[in-house]
Amino acid sequence: MKINLYGKTLAQLEELMIQEGQKAFRARQIYKWIYEKNVTDFSQMSDISLKFISVLNEKYCLEKPKIYLRQDSVDKTVKLLLEMQDGAKVETVLMRYNYGNVACVSSQVGCNMGCSFCASGLLKKVRNLTSEEMIGEVLVLNDLLRQENNSKLVTHVVVMGTGEPFDNYNNVMDFVRILNEQRGLAIGARHITVSTCGIPDKIRAYGKEGLQINLAISLHAPNNKIRDSIMKINKAYPLEEIILAVKDYIESSSRRVTYEYILLKGINDSIENADELTKLIAPTFAYVNLIPYNEVAENGYKRADNKSVKAFMDRLIKNGVNVTIRKEFGSDIDAACGQLRAKNERMIKNG
Ligand code: SAH
Repeated sequence: MKINLYGKTLAQLEELMIQEGQKAFRARQIYKWIYEKNVTDFSQMSDISLKFISVLNEKYCLEKPKIYLRQDSVDKTVKLLLEMQDGAKVETVLMRYNYGNVACVSSQVGCNMGCSFCASGLLKKVRNLTSEEMIGEVLVLNDLLRQENNSKLVTHVVVMGTGEPFDNYNNVMDFVRILNEQRGLAIGARHITVSTCGIPDKIRAYGKEGLQINLAISLHAPNNKIRDSIMKINKAYPLEEIILAVKDYIESSSRRVTYEYILLKGINDSIENADELTKLIAPTFAYVNLIPYNEVAENGYKRADNKSVKAFMDRLIKNGVNVTIRKEFGSDIDAACGQLRAKNERMIKNG
């Protein structure tokens, strides 16, 4: 099978060029063609010799995922179900904020973390996505924005689609390096966020990568009792261990983290919970991002009502916590994680 060059970091591509008997700068030329000029055909790379183009055509390819399903929301959010070369399907979402175009990228086909409120976990992990497949998610969205004659392409990337990025650490790190590379997609590190359910050794490793990329941690509970009941992973890595890992992360990266907290009615949305959360995260000076729950048909969880969301937020503010509420997109188009893919599988199963 041909090697898809979209998956290579610039350093990896330089190494590959040297192995091919070329000079390292050939990699930069190729990067410019594929990322700056969106050229997908080696034959159009006019500063590369015909001889080497034929080698590229023989051994390598530039393959993007195919759009299998597309849903457009009234707020112009676009949700795609993309089909990979082996037929695996993953969700990618484009959200339009006033500050830019945000791509929400999946990192695995299915997910094994087993969070009881999440639709992605309805389908178990089939495999990790490769770096070229994740880059492909962003490139397909860029093509879509080009078709719209949008003046901006994807400006921000959040790895918050299906999958646990830290269960696919190396591929995700290659992916963010390609995104962040000035000669690649040139997306600033502070415009990239990786979200994890909290795997301590990977949080520490991420802090040592020397990248300025944001880290978000899906906390969703102020104590182990509640977290155990909604996030299976908490049995392996309880909250104390996550907090310790975050402290180490801050020390090695000098960056703050964001805790994500979905407010689930009657489960984690009381004032006492807000106080408990404040105490738990105090040693890490973190931000809290409150997430309105996107209800999933298959489980019984309900979104906390507006009154308790407001009270919870006010209490955190009063306690001195930096808190924001996540803006909602595409609630009319199955935009909750994994819903489109799960629905598609159900439709296939039910004929
Ligand atoms: N596995 C990673 C990244 C994917 S989930 C993680 O756990 O962070 C991205 C975020 O969406 C997580 O905070 C997750 O808990 C949240 N999420 C999952 N299902 C949701 C739903 N139905 N409504 C709102 N947020 C949801």
